[in-house]
Amino acid sequence: MEKTIQTKMITIDPQSMDLAAIKTAGDIMKAGGLVAFPTETVYGLGADATNAKASEKIYAAKGRPSDNPLIVHISNIEALEGIVEDIPKEAYVLAEKFWPGPLTMIFQKNDKIPYETTGGMDTVAVRMPSDPIARALIDAAGGYVAAPSANTSGRPSPTTAAHVSEDLSGRIDMIIDGGAVMIGLESTIIDFTEEIPVVLRPGYITLEMLREAIGEVRIDPGLISADSKQKPKAPGMKYRHYAPKADLKVVEGETGAVIDEINRRTAELTAAGKKVGVIATEETKQAYIGGIVISIGARDDEEAIARHLYAILREFDNLEVDAIFSESFVSEKIGQAIMNRLLKAAGHQILEV
Ligand code: AMP
Ligand code: MG
Repeated sequence: MEKTIQTKMITIDPQSMDLAAIKTAGDIMKAGGLVAFPTETVYGLGADATNAKASEKIYAAKGRPSDNPLIVHISNIEALEGIVEDIPKEAYVLAEKFWPGPLTMIFQKNDKIPYETTGGMDTVAVRMPSDPIARALIDAAGGYVAAPSANTSGRPSPTTAAHVSEDLSGRIDMIIDGGAVMIGLESTIIDFTEEIPVVLRPGYITLEMLREAIGEVRIDPGLISADSKQKPKAPGMKYRHYAPKADLKVVEGETGAVIDEINRRTAELTAAGKKVGVIATEETKQAYIGGIVISIGARDDEEAIARHLYAILREFDNLEVDAIFSESFVSEKIGQAIMNRLLKAAGHQILEV
């Protein structure tokens, strides 16, 4: 798509919101336009979810495959009842516990949401975000905002307004800068259209938290397997998302051995004239002797690791490195979502040492 639109950049302070600016942004969406805005997970690219033409514009601006459905954002539970059939009681339990917040739930849709928004599916994914700017904007736009991550399809999701601008400036009507996001990874997705609810994408709300709230919850086998024949049920998960431009490999093993292996490979590639990036932790960053080393945070601070991952992948893109080596992280709790995104970014290339 050509870059032809004049993109307006505005800053809104979530602590003292400029309501006139929110109204302007809402009016743009009501008229079928596109506005990027912060949420607590990542920046979203918003359009009126009830307007088929507006949803089509999202796909065009992102270069998103047309079978990859959008998440509809709402600001209150009554809005959910307006667009879906059969809400099981477990869904109300999760809404009570985790909404507003980083959880997306999938239900059968009704006619209010067009197929252009759901990538042709009879189901619709719905989330109620907690970010105050996002919530005010949803109300200003009429109550239903379709919003995938505000990145070019295939690039790491944006966690700052500058990331959005890098990808979408000239393609959308407005970008609202509300500062860096809190979480940094996309929402957890749970599908309520099956007999037993299924997690289609891990996120900040973990499998354990969901099970504790509602009992039995399955996890989509396509998520855990690196085997490409196991198709994940969330269409977006089958694409090589979150990908940096460089070849990314995750190195797994005992810490000392991981450092040695990364140092050895970095030296080898550097000698061959390649530029190498290393994703290290606070504890290990001094131990790397070559390459461009970026610390993702302290090893036991999963929230920091989640928050920094995409920005680091983008930074290595901008530095035009040829190869990236990353340490591996525990895959419990939020670590499950971190490793899901990291391994997808790496195309599941793992070096065991
Ligand atoms: P994004 O907002 O860019 O993180 O993308 C939304 C994600 O939600 C994609 O991975 C979609 O595949 C998934 N999704 C949205 N709606 C549905 C649905 N009706 N059924 C299954 N997955 C969905
Ligand atoms: Mg996305």
